[in-house]
Amino acid sequence: MDNTEKIRRIILDAGFSAEGIIPTEDLVFSEDVRKLCEQNRCRKYGTTWACPPAVGTLEECRERVLDFSYMHLFSKIYTLESSLDFRGMAEGMKDFKDSTWELGRLLKGEVSPVRVLSNESCNRCKKCTYPSEPCRFPDELQHSIEGYGFNINELAKQAGLLYNNGAGTMTFFGAVLHS
Ligand code: SF4
Repeated sequence: MDNTEKIRRIILDAGFSAEGIIPTEDLVFSEDVRKLCEQNRCRKYGTTWACPPAVGTLEECRERVLDFSYMHLFSKIYTLESSLDFRGMAEGMKDFKDSTWELGRLLKGEVSPVRVLSNESCNRCKKCTYPSEPCRFPDELQHSIEGYGFNINELAKQAGLLYNNGAGTMTFFGAVLHS
C-alpha cells in the first residue's frame, strides 16, 4: 500500500468524515488570510506555539509545506441543535482537536515524515507555555491550518470536499502533509 492509500485509510479509520488530496505545488498561501490572523478575531493570535506569529512568516510556512509533495485534507462534520448551539460548537471543536491529536499519534510509525495541521490553535494544555517556555509537546505540535495562510473554503474545493455540509452542521478541517 502506498503512502497516499495508507494515510487515507488511517484518516477514515480514525473517524473523520471525508478526505481528499492536493499536490502541494498547487497550494495558495494567502497574505490576506494571515492578515485575518493578525486582526485576532479568533482571539488566538500570539497565544500559542500553534499560531502566528510563533509559526513563522508566511514564507517560512510555505517552505515548510513545500518540503512535502502532498496535502491530504480531511474534515469532520458535527450536528448542531441550532445556529445558536454554542455548547455544541465548543464540544465539536474539542472533539476535533482531540481527534487530530490522536491522528498524529496513529500516523507516527506508519508513515514518515508527515506534518499534521489542525483547525485553529492548540488547546492541548490548560495553559500554553507560549511565549516564555518551549512547547511541552514539540514533536506532536500541530500548527493552525489557517495560520499557514490557507483559505479553507478554497482548499476544500481543491480537494473535492464540502466546506458547508448543510444547515445545522459545522465542519472542521485539518491536513496531513506527506511525500
Ligand atoms: S501543546 Fe501545550 S505548550 Fe504546546 S502549543 Fe499546545 S498548548 Fe501550547
